[in-house]
Amino acid sequence: MFELNNILRENIKRLVPYSSARDEFKGKTGMFLDANENSYGSPLDKGIYNRYPDPLQLDVKEKLSKIKGLPVENIFLGNGSDEAIDILFRAFCNPGKDNVIICPPTYGMYEVSANINDIAIQKINLLEETYQLNVDKIISSIDQNTKLIFVCCPNNPTGNGVKRSDIIKILDNFKGILVVDEAYINFASYKSMIPELLKYPNLVILQTLSKAWGLAGLRIGMAFASQQIIDVFNKIKPPYNVNIASQKLALEALDNVEKVNEWIKEIVDERNKLSAEIAKLPFVLKVYPSDANFILVKTTDPKTIYTYLTDNQIVIRDRSKVALCEGCLRFTIGTKEENKQVIEKLKQFKLEYRS
Ligand code: PMP
Repeated sequence: MFELNNILRENIKRLVPYSSARDEFKGKTGMFLDANENSYGSPLDKGIYNRYPDPLQLDVKEKLSKIKGLPVENIFLGNGSDEAIDILFRAFCNPGKDNVIICPPTYGMYEVSANINDIAIQKINLLEETYQLNVDKIISSIDQNTKLIFVCCPNNPTGNGVKRSDIIKILDNFKGILVVDEAYINFASYKSMIPELLKYPNLVILQTLSKAWGLAGLRIGMAFASQQIIDVFNKIKPPYNVNIASQKLALEALDNVEKVNEWIKEIVDERNKLSAEIAKLPFVLKVYPSDANFILVKTTDPKTIYTYLTDNQIVIRDRSKVALCEGCLRFTIGTKEENKQVIEKLKQFKLEYRS
């Protein structure tokens, strides 16, 4: 059975969190002389930026709660989901002692965060070609110091989803925390694992406003989990981790679900078109099926193609040095016009390449 206290670091159990000035007074009106702010205002306008933001971002969470169908108490907001990843390490992993399991090729920050926090990494590669989880090896590699397992679904940089039944099998066989990173879930044909939170107290789901919501510049990431786990996140996070401008703009943006849904449809449509066009090129060995807003393309000559595109002011991601991604380039889906230009340029490369 999963028991949070069994995996929480002792120093975090003992931690007395920082109590911010506004924790003690919840009212919205009054004379605020408690936080050493500038009472005269700010050079901006309307006297809101001179105040510290709501530490728990309740207005934003209330809107998200309706969109996600999840109580506010089960939502954490961070300065990007990268902050949530870092907090997971600091809450649950003892430096120099504990380990985590990651499944390469996958999102790079799991490894970077582990290294920053001096946590050992067990790499259980995805299966070749299908990029599915090597679920039996993952389960047999769990030891008493394995605190976190990261699964990215849809996965970056491969673009595919991993089987839901494999994720459930890990949840059923693990006393630590399984983190399912759903940064790209809005582009997938399957649904989020959010409903599974009711059944699995050891599940943490990450999502972000940086992808489908088009708000990468605001830096707002989300973690969904049991209230017990969210309380731990809130205990550790810097008191004002999501600034007031980001909260204000996110509140505005979250009223536009229909617009975002239109973009998602268009991006998925463009993804399918771009995949089909790229697959026809003679130097392309494979376009991997994608559930995300990017595609992974195996080519005969990744370095030359990458340099050729960069010389033409088209910046993509060279993933050819990454394990199991030999020859691979990753293309984010652009606008219709951008995708057209990518194809045109790649066709020209075909001609030069042949001569
Ligand atoms: N998870 C995955 C799988 C990602 O690809 C990224 C960003 N590329 C992130 C998390 C981080 O997202 P954020 O902008 O919310 O920090």
